[in-house]
Amino acid sequence: MLKLNSVTVNYGKYSAVRQIDIEVSEGEIVVLLGANGAGKTTTFKTISGLLKPTGGTVNFEGAPINGKSPDRIVQAGIVQCAEDRKLFPQMSVQQNLMMGGYIHRSKKTQLKESLKEVYELFPILYDKRDESARLLSGGQQQMLAIGRALMAKPKLMLLDEPSIGLAPLVVEQMFTSIQHINKDGTTILLAEQNANAALSIADKGYVFENGRIVIEGTSEELFSNDEIRKAYIGA
Ligand code: ATP
Repeated sequence: MLKLNSVTVNYGKYSAVRQIDIEVSEGEIVVLLGANGAGKTTTFKTISGLLKPTGGTVNFEGAPINGKSPDRIVQAGIVQCAEDRKLFPQMSVQQNLMMGGYIHRSKKTQLKESLKEVYELFPILYDKRDESARLLSGGQQQMLAIGRALMAKPKLMLLDEPSIGLAPLVVEQMFTSIQHINKDGTTILLAEQNANAALSIADKGYVFENGRIVIEGTSEELFSNDEIRKAYIGA
């Protein structure tokens, strides 16, 4: 479904991502692991069209998307949910969700159906639909960010550090919700520092170090890799 082939991304002369190859098949949950600054967010921004690769190609469903505008990439079916959530704090929960459905502007029934699905997934958002987004807890704001991304009915969702800043119990709920979203038919590419939680729901993963992919494998392989356990799982 998504294929990055030898992708390099520079900020000026600095290569933040170097010749990476990533493959995500339809229906999978794939995780990018790595320390702060290893290149995960840069990779996401490149897939979603916010950054242009200096080298290599990004293909989605068989067609190149590198060089396309972020808007065209959303239309193609890839939606990014950013690390900093980027909510509209003064707007209500429901208004925030409606902003995510803008690509279905002309189809009211589609919007209604998407909204219903998001509220079924996160009932707390329905209870708080008229409250300002800024009044939500961290976990609820993350649900809202994910819910807003879902409103666009993506084929592939990019989730950048959904567990950041959340209490352990909330992290667990968040990962269960991500599994539900995946089972409902959305392919997921996830960047996480919480390797334990991420690998427990992922099919496979890639480990970034200084802009390069140094290890890749199925979740089972990564779980049983001593280096990974020491660096990211702490066992
Ligand atoms: P984090 O979890 O902190 O976002 P990351 O793995 O996503 O980490 P990136 O944000 O992709 O890492 O950063 C990769 C490298 O590129 C880092 O060395 C970072 O300092 C650098 N970098 C990121 N954004 C810019 C920018 N706008 N200009 C210059 N360098 C940048």
